Amino acid sequence: PLANDVGDAYWLPFTAMRQFRSNPMMFVGAEGMHYLTVDGRRVLDAMAGLWCVNAGHGQPRIVEAIREAAGRLDFVSSFKMSHPGAFELARRLTGIAPDGFDHVFFTNSGSEAVDSALKIARAYHRVRGDAGRTKLIGRAKGYHGMGFGGLSVGGIGRHKRDFGPLLPDVSHLSLPYDRASMGFSRGQPEAGAPYADELESLLQINDPMTVAAVIVEPVIGSGGVYPPPVNYLERLRAICSRHGILLIFDEVITGFGRLGRPFAAQALGVTPDIITCAKGMTNGAVPMGGVLIRDFVFDAFMAGPPEAIELFHGYTYSGHPLACAAGLATLDVYEELGLCGRTTAIAPVWEAALHSLKGEPHVADIRNIGLLGVVELSSRTAEAGARGSLCAQMCYEDGVLVRASGDLIVLSPPLVIEEEQIGQTVESIRSALHRMN
Ligand code: PMP
Repeated sequence: PLANDVGDAYWLPFTAMRQFRSNPMMFVGAEGMHYLTVDGRRVLDAMAGLWCVNAGHGQPRIVEAIREAAGRLDFVSSFKMSHPGAFELARRLTGIAPDGFDHVFFTNSGSEAVDSALKIARAYHRVRGDAGRTKLIGRAKGYHGMGFGGLSVGGIGRHKRDFGPLLPDVSHLSLPYDRASMGFSRGQPEAGAPYADELESLLQINDPMTVAAVIVEPVIGSGGVYPPPVNYLERLRAICSRHGILLIFDEVITGFGRLGRPFAAQALGVTPDIITCAKGMTNGAVPMGGVLIRDFVFDAFMAGPPEAIELFHGYTYSGHPLACAAGLATLDVYEELGLCGRTTAIAPVWEAALHSLKGEPHVADIRNIGLLGVVELSSRTAEAGARGSLCAQMCYEDGVLVRASGDLIVLSPPLVIEEEQIGQTVESIRSALHRMN
């Protein structure tokens, strides 16, 4: 059926229903850098699906691994039993994770990974006898998924508005960004450390001995692609260490090469205590997420008597055989393609191309790091978001898929993007900007 003939039977995610009706994007296939639309057009995917198809669509080795796994072992519980693929994937993941991350807990999504990480952080303190450490700290514009835990630590107001009350005892750091001094920075803006000092102030109000964890995306993604200012994450790390607070990096977007190393922790040189991942873990091909845990956290659970440390947490589909097979094939593909090296090599081209939009009509700011980017448009006074969706719509008609989030044009292409396709993406945005008012 054509996109506009589909009727109302299928309830799309809340935020997508109206947009889909007014601007249906219906895809029937995908290969490499392109989606194939229901009306037979090829559209360049400058979003890697939804920040996840890092090696491009339809990687044959991943497809084959899924087929093979589906025919071999459909399901095993991860409660008291398992299968070799889960252990093999855990071994491979810890091999590419920062040093000292030797344990993985599997989930089925980024949201589950975040909720698992928050629960593990609280339980860690409890097994060590610090049951009073339960508070959580997130930050403004942080996005950590749609579970109640992730929503509570998240900092995007419109996501939370309709669903309260959320978790109590959660505080938020402010966005470490000031457009007047940092706007149009390339990569990490300068002068970030004072923003991190806000954590010290928060800990004067909240006794540090009541705080379990601080959770941040190393680069804020869905909230608008804000790279961390220089020294900001380093300062957060130091403050958390000083007070025995666990630092969680939510790497659901930044994981698997987007910053030129497997994890942003490595690219940015700051080591958290817990890392959440998903999306690129299976190149988007099947749902999977995970929590990577540093040894000392894991060891705390292993140290006490069993009745004290038994942790009742897990999902039916944790470490699902199909997802593990996809994950293993994905890591092979990333390695074979040399995806991290490729990203590092092409990131300067990406940066230069994006920043060539400075000075074009409606452009209010541009931010980038690795193969992430955002072009922020000035809002029309009466209709915030109107320019963003119009720009995305024009790009789509022109054969390029970008993501509008309000008046932000968000970009996160597959890491296999070629120079010429970077050009096509940026020129499509430029042309749209010139055609709209
Ligand atoms: N954390 C971050 C940083 C994310 O970007 C996302 C998804 N955009 C999530 C968590 C939630 O992941 P999922 O949608 O797979 O639940």
